[in-house]
Amino acid sequence: MTPEILDLLFPNELPDIKEIVKKYPSRKLPENAVVSRLAPSPTGYLHIGNFYQGFMAERLAHQNRGVFFLRVEDTDQARKVDGAVEIVLRAMGHYGIMPDEGAQIDGSERGEYGPYTQSKRKEIYQAFAKEWVKKGLAYPCFCSSEDIDLMRKVQEKQGLRPGYYGRYARCRDLTDEQILENLKAKKPFIIRMRSNGNYDNRIVVEDLLKGKLSMPDNEMDIVIIKKDGLPTYHFAHIVDDHFMGTTHVVRGEEWLSSVPLHLQMFKMMNWQAPQYAHHALLQKMDENGKRRKISKRLDPEANIEYFAQNGYPQDAVLEYLLNLMNASFEDWRKANPTIPVMDFPLNFKKISNTAGALFDFVKLHSICRDVVARMTADEVFSETLNWAKQFKPDFAKKLESHADMVKAVLNIERGIGAKSRKDLSKWADVENELTYYFEAPIKIEPSLLAPMVESDIQKIAQDFAKIYSSEDDKDTWFNKVKQVATDNGFATNMKEYKANPSDYKGSVADVAKVLRVLVTGRTQTPDLYQIMKILGQKEVLNRLSVVA
Ligand code: GLU
Repeated sequence: MTPEILDLLFPNELPDIKEIVKKYPSRKLPENAVVSRLAPSPTGYLHIGNFYQGFMAERLAHQNRGVFFLRVEDTDQARKVDGAVEIVLRAMGHYGIMPDEGAQIDGSERGEYGPYTQSKRKEIYQAFAKEWVKKGLAYPCFCSSEDIDLMRKVQEKQGLRPGYYGRYARCRDLTDEQILENLKAKKPFIIRMRSNGNYDNRIVVEDLLKGKLSMPDNEMDIVIIKKDGLPTYHFAHIVDDHFMGTTHVVRGEEWLSSVPLHLQMFKMMNWQAPQYAHHALLQKMDENGKRRKISKRLDPEANIEYFAQNGYPQDAVLEYLLNLMNASFEDWRKANPTIPVMDFPLNFKKISNTAGALFDFVKLHSICRDVVARMTADEVFSETLNWAKQFKPDFAKKLESHADMVKAVLNIERGIGAKSRKDLSKWADVENELTYYFEAPIKIEPSLLAPMVESDIQKIAQDFAKIYSSEDDKDTWFNKVKQVATDNGFATNMKEYKANPSDYKGSVADVAKVLRVLVTGRTQTPDLYQIMKILGQKEVLNRLSVVA
């Protein structure tokens, strides 16, 4: 390739390759340290799958004395959204997952291996693309998209592999004269790599998560520099992960089939390829019992923000994701109920390598309930308040002005080990739970107490109201409930009732249910004795008198 052509292809002043190499010395890290990264496109949205990937990469790096960095992959300028980096960093920061290096919220960067935003690295990619063209490893391609479409159609018709390769790579063997002519005619061009691969050769790929795989070699002359002068993902991946010192690339399995291409490119550069870890994509079960990818369009939970907005405890989300990564998490948690979640030793050999990780809300909620059950009332209160300040300001004010009462409510059946209450899975549930403290039930749904007859309900309420005292201890309180049961023809315990059901209208459980529903409007609540105590004498009598 003549210098004239090179200058026409790359008219801008480009940095010297030797200078670039000098600028990125190898990292001084302990032996076997892991350097990994999250490399999202700045689309204004952090998909839960990207978060999952970033968390996995972060664990891998930080559990192996290494570095975790954030790289902004903004080479698709059309999809770029302002403020997207902030969205990513805030979403990660919410869970305490902070990159050691990379783009920062204020537009600055931290770290010695930047710039960490691809659009700011244009000259670096171009310098290497130019070097490849010089060496004959890449060439300009002047095919229009219509040319490419037409060629694809022909290939399809003939039952051939579609793509720009071999004898279908029309611009691969243009002469210098032809290239010059096209350039002088100002024909738009892109730069393609000249693949030296043969599809019939098999490449052995060692993936950290998928194991040993054999795949056909890459034969496509893929695009490395686009019309706008920016690189494609493939080329940027090679250049960036090399110079940024990435040792492990954790990414979604949609990239697995590109590994032969990437290995080929690393070889062409004479660089050592990183280790790859391709994780399963997060899936969900649809209404028809079929697995499908979690979709931005269909599923609100595709956006990691969803979990912050709905007040999911951060630790529970992390626990759930670790649980998806390593099935052994649950046993670890059982053996270590009080250790921080980040102390879990994520084992890469045990990460599921199946085709999809099933995201299941039932399991997530169960983990949430366990996580909240382990917290103190004060912790639940302050987490709920933090959440409310951000997403429910009116509720936050209410929490602050009733702090003592709310803490007392949260303290019911808490701190008693395995028997601790497990009714709260997220901070939004606290709001729901508090509704009956703030307001008496407006209307008692008759179905809640069916088939109990109205006259019995009234009588139970009246009788209990006469003897209730908020000063009573729990035994006295319960004896009073039993007293009302006896007086109204209900057995004082289940055993008695079951022995002779026809002798009674029901059991003390039915009586307690009447009181619970009248006081709270619900059939299921934490300890009713405690609830009544918090509501106080006057309020309890008021609520019982609604029917009395
Ligand atoms: N920007 C790419 C993506 O979001 C990054 C893949 C990678 O981690 O290398 O899929």
